[in-house]
Amino acid sequence: MKQRIVILGAGESGTGAALLASKKGYEIFVSDQSPIKDKYKQELLAHKIDFEEGQHTEAKIINASLIIKSPGIPDKAEIIKKCKYAGIEIIDELEFGFRFIKGKVIAITGTNGKTTTTLLTFHLLKEAGVKVALAGNVGFSLARQIAEQDHDWYVIEISSFQLDGTTTFKPAVGVLLNITPDHLDRYEYQLQNYINSKFRITRHMSDTDTFIYYADDAILKHEVKARPIAGQQLAISLSDESTPVHYDGTRMSFGFSEAFKIAQSETTLKGPHNLINTMAAVSAAQLAGLSEQAIRKGLATFKNAPHRLESVAVINGVEFVNDSKATNVDSVVYGLGSYTGPLVWIAGGVDKGNDYTLIEKEVKQKVRTLICLGKENDKLKKAFGNVVSTIKETQSVKELVKMALAEAQKGDVVLLSPACASFDLFKNYEDRGDQFRSAVLELKMEVEGQS
Ligand code: ADP
Repeated sequence: MKQRIVILGAGESGTGAALLASKKGYEIFVSDQSPIKDKYKQELLAHKIDFEEGQHTEAKIINASLIIKSPGIPDKAEIIKKCKYAGIEIIDELEFGFRFIKGKVIAITGTNGKTTTTLLTFHLLKEAGVKVALAGNVGFSLARQIAEQDHDWYVIEISSFQLDGTTTFKPAVGVLLNITPDHLDRYEYQLQNYINSKFRITRHMSDTDTFIYYADDAILKHEVKARPIAGQQLAISLSDESTPVHYDGTRMSFGFSEAFKIAQSETTLKGPHNLINTMAAVSAAQLAGLSEQAIRKGLATFKNAPHRLESVAVINGVEFVNDSKATNVDSVVYGLGSYTGPLVWIAGGVDKGNDYTLIEKEVKQKVRTLICLGKENDKLKKAFGNVVSTIKETQSVKELVKMALAEAQKGDVVLLSPACASFDLFKNYEDRGDQFRSAVLELKMEVEGQS
């Protein structure tokens, strides 16, 4: 009899899992409590995969021999509790894909910097002519990529939620960039649970695998000493020159057989956080066998995803930068740290319990004007009232960019790095960044049309 797989959630990962399961000949049922996006529904229909939407019909789920669940569904969801009670194995799409993988995996996780590091690693390998696929949280699901074609390498961005649903998954190269408190609602408000989840990336490593981690991160430094890790360890540091991969104040140094050095000016990325991301990506690329020459070439042509310190335009000598993805204070530390100032800083939105004292010093040194872009700005105004000389407010993006240009002087940077979520005024951070970019480009046309 065919094994029956039930897939809960029909987003990119659920649909990818369904396509791979279908290719492997399983009996499949897909169930999503919400309406399924049209593009995914079309794919399920085209492959004659049975599905339901807007509900979970228990009778059609509890008879599964394997459940593949979307990383968005928490363990405390009613249907998951029932499946667990019935003793059914529950895994993530990532784990399912991994069970069929032929190539090797570079897996990248951390609280911040995953997407940048994943895209950069993928770009380096691809430009060097490696048969490589990009998968996970960025781009397509791993299962979909495997269903479509075999590759020699898979570069995968992985969240803690996905790691929670793995049981055998192990990367040849695992990267852990940093750990700061996040998503604690899914981890019983225990930071240690979140840490344990991130370290699942090392759980099944053997001594031929490599674990790359950022050793200046206090949590990582402590945890690496405290727990057994079977893989080879490769530490990265911004300050400690005894670490094999480090920044010496001028250049990044990669101390494998013969150390080779790269200045950040040879890359397309800015800021200290991107030194960490670059050192991680380059180390992973070296482990995948890339030459120094191929790595240098790739670094010079990389284009990051939008909304991450994205330089939009220069108007009257003022550079406008979209860092809408910076939705917590930690990311803003790096956003502000990427410029020497003066800055017109745009922040605000939905506060996630922000502690602004973390950036007070930097703001005092660099920010000329703070413009609050949120419905409720009292907390920001209170935190920086005595720190910056001018604070303004608006809820209109068009007005915002004009205001920013009026406040800025030639040579300044206008930086949208909000430290907050966006859903008070926007659909999501992408929408906020897109609206900002359009308004800046429109303003540029207006200003340059007049001159
Ligand atoms: P993620 O996919 O983990 O959210 P991104 O690469 O999209 O990470 O970057 C999100 C934000 O996090 C960026 O806007 C940047 O401000 C910040 N960031 C990027 N890399 C790092 C890092 N290594 N450490 C801390 N913050 C970072």
